[in-house]
Formats: sequence, structure tokens, C-alpha cells
Amino acid sequence: MAKTYDYDLFVIGAGSGGVRASRVAAAHGARVAIAEEYRVGGTCVIRGCVPKKLLVFGAHFAEDLMDARRFGWKIGTCKFDWPTLRDNVLAEVERLEGIYQDILDRHEVETFAQRATVTGANEVTLADGTKVSAATILIATGAHPAIPDVPGAGHGITSNEVFHLESMPKRVMIAGGGYIANEFAGIFHQFSCHVTIVNRGDIILRHYDEQVRDRLLQISLTKGIEFKFNAPFETIEKGKGGKLTVKLAGQDPIGTDLLLWAVGRDPNTAGLGLDKVGVELGKNKAVLVDEDNQSSVPSIYAIGDVTDRVQLTPVAIREGQAFADTLFGGKPTRVDYANIPHAVFSHPPIASVGLTEGEAREKLGGYKTFTSDFRPMKNVLAGRNERSLYKLIVEEGTDRVVGLHMIGPDAPEILQAAAIAVKAGLTKAQFDDTIALHPTMAEELVLMR
Ligand code: NDP
Repeated sequence: MAKTYDYDLFVIGAGSGGVRASRVAAAHGARVAIAEEYRVGGTCVIRGCVPKKLLVFGAHFAEDLMDARRFGWKIGTCKFDWPTLRDNVLAEVERLEGIYQDILDRHEVETFAQRATVTGANEVTLADGTKVSAATILIATGAHPAIPDVPGAGHGITSNEVFHLESMPKRVMIAGGGYIANEFAGIFHQFSCHVTIVNRGDIILRHYDEQVRDRLLQISLTKGIEFKFNAPFETIEKGKGGKLTVKLAGQDPIGTDLLLWAVGRDPNTAGLGLDKVGVELGKNKAVLVDEDNQSSVPSIYAIGDVTDRVQLTPVAIREGQAFADTLFGGKPTRVDYANIPHAVFSHPPIASVGLTEGEAREKLGGYKTFTSDFRPMKNVLAGRNERSLYKLIVEEGTDRVVGLHMIGPDAPEILQAAAIAVKAGLTKAQFDDTIALHPTMAEELVLMR
């Protein structure tokens, strides 16, 4: 007789991936439970993409209000009030958390608001000691901000805490040169903080096209954001009134009011019991899975950031959907990781899909690049000397557009649509065949000759 379990599926972690997998599996008829130790919604909704984007909107008003005067608006003295924005953003996060919980409830997914650990190939133990059994266990516990092993590192904060600041600091130091560093540099700068980015190497946003990341660096420097390259941290000391003194290798000590660690995110597998039941872990203690998200223990699967493949919300969602459709919907599905669009919500934002020029050089027999380097119409009238850059990488021989890289206002909004063309393998000639939509910034995409 087939063994019976309390649940068909037990999901650990109610973030974007876990919630999607649970509700789709339940819709396919599975008996599903989910455990969450913090808040339903996970990093993206609670302390990542969503509140960050709301802060980006809030920060943008600094420039918009300034530019508005050139467009004829008489604006009195403007004053920014951080607690108002912070509290409104946190209230919105709470609203979304309710919606996520509602999705689970409507699909009859049983929620356990406590930590769960894996205590057998088909067994999970909850923090209150309850043991439950499940035919399949899905690990969707996400990742957490890494903090380097430097004396005094604990005086810094991470992206987990940044949304809750009591007040706006005057000076902010951000460690790292990736997504979070560049996004929060833009946010803090617009809120009138003095921002210093400290990077261990001399490259920001390593995986982006060189020309585009150089443009962001140039614009950030012009705005007054400071950069310290090749500058490893030695010590961080806390003085009177909470001020920090940071010693970087080979440099005089620097004072700052806030230090934000943004040096990557590590998978949340510590203390989950996975190693004890034989689940193989890889670099950074990520769960190793195959193309069907299955770990080395056949009944245990993993999706999202805990697998450290592509740490992006829409990818975790796709993985959750594919997992549920494959196991519970009779529809075997694998995620296609080619041509994933990605964006940095810096000021101005960057968006990208496909091969960078560096990758094209390595991977293709031959390629051509087309660029449009222009000052957006709105910036011209506003007297804002910030130029946008769009770049196409075209494979020689096939004429296919294999890479698209943009920096400029609304670049992520524009790129999402253009990514369809790149994913579909359209050619440069087909881009050129499309009549421009005038006057827009996006029309540059079909006017590059
Ligand atoms: P990133 O991976 O983007 O960047 C990490 C940065 O820290 C790099 O500059 C890296 O340098 C540096 N670094 C890495 N390890 C160390 C170390 N031990 N000491 C000093 N510096 C170090 O990480 P983030 O923390 O900014 O973001 C985490 C992830 O979250 C991103 O990779 C992304 O997947 C996701 N995210 C996505 C966003 C979006 O889609 N818009 C927004 C925010 C986060 P080096 O280049 O030399 O390795």
C-alpha cells in the first residue's frame, strides 16, 4: 500500500517562489502546507524589490521638483520628510503581505507562521516541536545579505534594516559595487546624503556591459557620489553618538553616519537540517539542484535564491511555477534561463538583456555594435546634462540582435518590451523595419544605423 503523508507538498519559505509553487500545486489539487518564520512575501515584497522601488520613486522627486521649475512651475521651498515616506512604504508592504497571505488562504494552503527544519527525507519539524510528513518538500528559503568578516562589521546595517531607519543620515558609506550599492547610492544621494561607495575591485556592476556601467559611474561622479576602488575594509569603530570611523586599507580613516553592507547575498540553508538528511550543498551552501529543481534527495526540491542560480524574483517565480506544473500538474516544464532581462534601479536606471559586448567577443564568431548616445528631450529643457546610452549587439552572419543594453530614464520599462524581440531572435533588419514612435526615447532602438 502506498505510504500516506500529512501533505503532498510542504514548502519552507513563503517568498515569491514559495508562494507561487504552493498556490499552483494547490490549484492542481495537491494538499499543501507552507512554513514562514518571518513575514509572508519574502525578500522581494518585505525588504527588497517592492519597498526599494517605492524609495526610488520617492527619491526621484528631488530631481523632478527641480526640473519642474524649468517647465514653468512655481514651487516654494520643498522639504523632504523621511518618516512620512518610510511609514507609507512600510504600510504598503503590510498591505501586500496581507494580499500574499490571502492568496495562500484562498488556495487552502495551510500556513505555519514559524520556522521549519528538515528532519527526514519526508519529514519537517516546526519550531514548536510538531512533526509533519510530506511526500515532497520544497526549500524556498531565499538568501540573506552577506556581511564580511571584518572587525566591527556589526556596526554596519544591511538591506534588511535600511527601510526602517529612524532618520536620514548625513553621510552614508555603501560597501559593494553591485545592484544594492548603486540603487541605494542613488536613493540616499537624492535625499541629500553624502554617499561614498567602497568597492573591493575597480569594477561596478561586473555583469553589465562595460560602456553602460561606465556611463553610470560617470553620471554618479558628476552628481557628487564618491567612489573608493580597490579599497578593502580593515576596521569599523563606533564612537560617541553612534558615528562610525572606517579604516580602509592604505587610506586615512573616514567618518560616516551609516555603513550599508551590499556585498552579495548568501543562501539561507544554515540550521535547516539539509546536510543531515543528505542534501548536497554547493558553493556558498546553496542547495544543488538539477534542471527540474530536484536535490540529491529525490523527495526534496529547491527553488529561488537558496539555489544561487539567478537571484531574481521573476526567476524564482518561474521556477516555482515549473516545479508545481511538473510535479502536480502533469505538465513537465523547465525554466529557460536564456535572455533574462535585468535592471538596476539606479539614478538613471540601467536595463539589459542578452550578451554584453565582452561576452559577444568571447562567444561569437563575429559581431557588430550599434549605439545611440543622446540627451533625452526632457533633460535638454530641464538643463540636465545627463546623456542616455542605448547599445545593440548584433551577431554577424545571422543579423540577430543578441544583446541590448540601456542606461537612461525609464530604461527598464522600455527594455521589458524590447526583450521580447531579443528573446524571439529578431534581426537588426526587423528592428529597422519598425517605424519609429516619435517623439520618444525608445524610438532610438529602431533608428540605430
Ligand atoms: P551584487 O552581487 O550585485 O554585488 C556584490 C558586490 O559586492 C560586488 O561589487 C562584489 O565585487 C562585492 N563583493 C562581493 N563579495 C565581497 C566581499 N567579500 N567583500 C567586499 N566586496 C564584495 O550583490 P548585492 O548585494 O548588491 O545584491 C545581491 C543580489 O540581489 C544581486 O546579485 C541580485 O541578484 C539581487 N538584486 C537584484 C536587484 C534588481 O534586480 N534590481 C536589486 C537588488 C538586488 P566583485 O564585483 O568584485 O565580485
